[in-house]
Amino acid sequence: MKQVGVVGSGVGGLAFAIRMACLGHQVQVFEANSFPGGKLSEFLIHGFRFDAGPSLFTLPHLVDELFTLANKNPRDYFNYSRLPEVCRYFWEDHTRLCTLENAEDTAREISKNLGENEKNVHEFILGLQEKYQIISELFLENSLHQPSTWLSKKAWNGYLNIPRLGMFSTMHQLHKIRFKNPKTVQLFDRYATYNGSDPYQTPATLSIIPHLEYNIGAFFPKGGMIAITQSLYQLATDLGVQFHFNEKVNRILCENNQATGLETAQGKYPFDILASNMDIRPTYQKLLPDQIQPKRLLQQEKSSSGIIFYWGMNKQWDELGVHNIFFSEKYQEEFKAIFMDKNLSDDPTVYLHISSKVAPEDAPEGGENWFILINAPANQGQNWDELLQLTRERVIQKISRALGEDISSCIVAEDYLDPRRIEERTSSSGGALYGNASNNRFAAFLRHPNYRSAIKNLYWIGGSVHPGGGIPLCLSSAKIASKLFQENA
Ligand code: FAD
Repeated sequence: MKQVGVVGSGVGGLAFAIRMACLGHQVQVFEANSFPGGKLSEFLIHGFRFDAGPSLFTLPHLVDELFTLANKNPRDYFNYSRLPEVCRYFWEDHTRLCTLENAEDTAREISKNLGENEKNVHEFILGLQEKYQIISELFLENSLHQPSTWLSKKAWNGYLNIPRLGMFSTMHQLHKIRFKNPKTVQLFDRYATYNGSDPYQTPATLSIIPHLEYNIGAFFPKGGMIAITQSLYQLATDLGVQFHFNEKVNRILCENNQATGLETAQGKYPFDILASNMDIRPTYQKLLPDQIQPKRLLQQEKSSSGIIFYWGMNKQWDELGVHNIFFSEKYQEEFKAIFMDKNLSDDPTVYLHISSKVAPEDAPEGGENWFILINAPANQGQNWDELLQLTRERVIQKISRALGEDISSCIVAEDYLDPRRIEERTSSSGGALYGNASNNRFAAFLRHPNYRSAIKNLYWIGGSVHPGGGIPLCLSSAKIASKLFQENA
């Protein structure tokens, strides 16, 4: 039995702790905050409950499999349902669209509202399944840094299909060729933001993302997104994992290129195996300052961050659903502002999530809990106080125009998050939501691996390492890391 120390209890850290406990090891998790979950946390203001970070739950089997691995029934800990409606879209010219839970119904709605050829849309969405299969086996479920991945049968299947995977064109180019209405192009381009990237730069390979929503489903956990954290924390505790909250790790101790323990304000703890769920940049800079820094990997472009407004509203709107998008009229300029100018557009796309639509207990009677996300550049010292003010005004005006009434007087409770606060609260470099951006075709290969023999016994988990950000990929990073641990043992 090995003694395992984990830095951070984000979703990736929790999943790794569970996997190591299932293998029979003694695990201790050190968390700087007073609560588990990192970005996947919650808070309450004046009777409104808000999930602080993620709002969209896809690939729930990746959570379920952790319970199954521990010989537990997932439903004893965690439940969720598939949303019949995926997202309501609003354009300034009053075009409206609601995408639904499957490819067929969504294609019909896109055809009806955007004049697109229904069969073409339907075939496009269904066709994503096969591409997803190839990409996920090659890039999402295995280490890219092991020769065995590249020599496998699945890899050869991937090489044979490279021309079809869209590595040599951008997502926007692919959609522009495929669809006639620029609004349909915009709709599918938006999926680049699911990993904090720019559709005008990111390879068309990422056009597989809608497969998750329309062929597998968009889900809502009972109790809100926080239920993912709570149930994994409960499972870890049941498996004997020990948590040290409010205990920030200051150093990962190393001897002869081998991690041997960690140090906090409370003292030194020896471990056989270590894992960092902290963003890689601060891990190297603060916890491993004496080790050789993999400069090229650390210098990769960060994903977008966000400005988030949490508004308690004293009213309900039938026109709104669980997930809503109010599109920018200047989409390309919006991404140029974020990724080139490191600024915000004067007409940002606004994402509005209202969990109280499906969980009425999340808001006082007659009200709604609005979670509003505007994509923003990672923090580089911009004047965030000014940008917050400007953006708040723009968001109010944009949603007010769409709903045909001034919404500002309905805000009765309020909080916000910006890249500075995200960085402060989770140690994410620049407050990036998803680690690195995928704005070039080599991005997947330039994420930090889940294990490097340069520092033995140290594993790397979470949104800033392979295979990337978002709940499913963070869970996948823990799975790959535990597989590598077993291979190394
Ligand atoms: P993190 O959540 O980054 O947590 C790291 C943990 O490590 C933190 O708890 C931190 O306190 C702790 N830590 C750091 N340094 C130390 C230290 N030195 N000592 C001890 N502890 C330390 N994903 C989706 O799938 N769907 C969405 O809809 C979605 N929307 C998002 C919206 C927002 C506003 C945000 C912020 C993120 C969103 N994401 C979404 C991304 C998703 O939240 C992240 O990819 C994922 O939660 C990151 O998990 P992680 O394992 O990398 O850990």
